[in-house]
Amino acid sequence: MAKTYTLPQLPYKYNALEPHISEQIMTLHHDKHHAAYVNGANAALDKLEKARAGQLQIDVRAVLRDLSFNIDGHKLHAIFWPNMAPSGKGGGMPGGKLSDKISQDFGGFDKFKAQFSDAAKTVEGSGWALLLYDQEIDTLVITQIEKQNFMHLAELPILLGLDVWEHSYYLQYLNDRAKYVDAWWNVANWSDVDSRLSKVRK
Ligand code: MN
Repeated sequence: MAKTYTLPQLPYKYNALEPHISEQIMTLHHDKHHAAYVNGANAALDKLEKARAGQLQIDVRAVLRDLSFNIDGHKLHAIFWPNMAPSGKGGGMPGGKLSDKISQDFGGFDKFKAQFSDAAKTVEGSGWALLLYDQEIDTLVITQIEKQNFMHLAELPILLGLDVWEHSYYLQYLNDRAKYVDAWWNVANWSDVDSRLSKVRK
């Protein structure tokens, strides 16, 4: 029997991010969208196992694409939830080593925030803005991904992700993604991002 992925619980209540992100969005986003990625990854693993056992004919390329799409969807959301903190506890400025590193690599928090926001607002279609860390040159890197399949960013650990799929904002912000991105900074969880950086930066 193949191992399976499980849907993690949110680290706060569904309404904890209000008024910036509504309870309805968080409920659907976690219970339907994230759950679908978990189930999709498990279904693809199951198909591959059955195919190896000769019990099922599959289009390997299509199943592997499903697998990577759903695993990435699961893992990105598993980072995204703790990247946010309940209203009143999140937002503001990062502290500690993260603050120093952002200043060193981006010339200050405001410059980082502006560029990360631009990245999120300009993703073409569904996707994410991500903050990564590259150990090779000890540098923070901002990137965009379309949908949620990674292209060439293998190995770079994700410190911070911002989901800009319509399901993450449409029920509250309609087509105004920029307004959602601007509001999202109020729930950024800098201590979570800082601890992710500490784990990967020696
Ligand atoms: Mn999402």
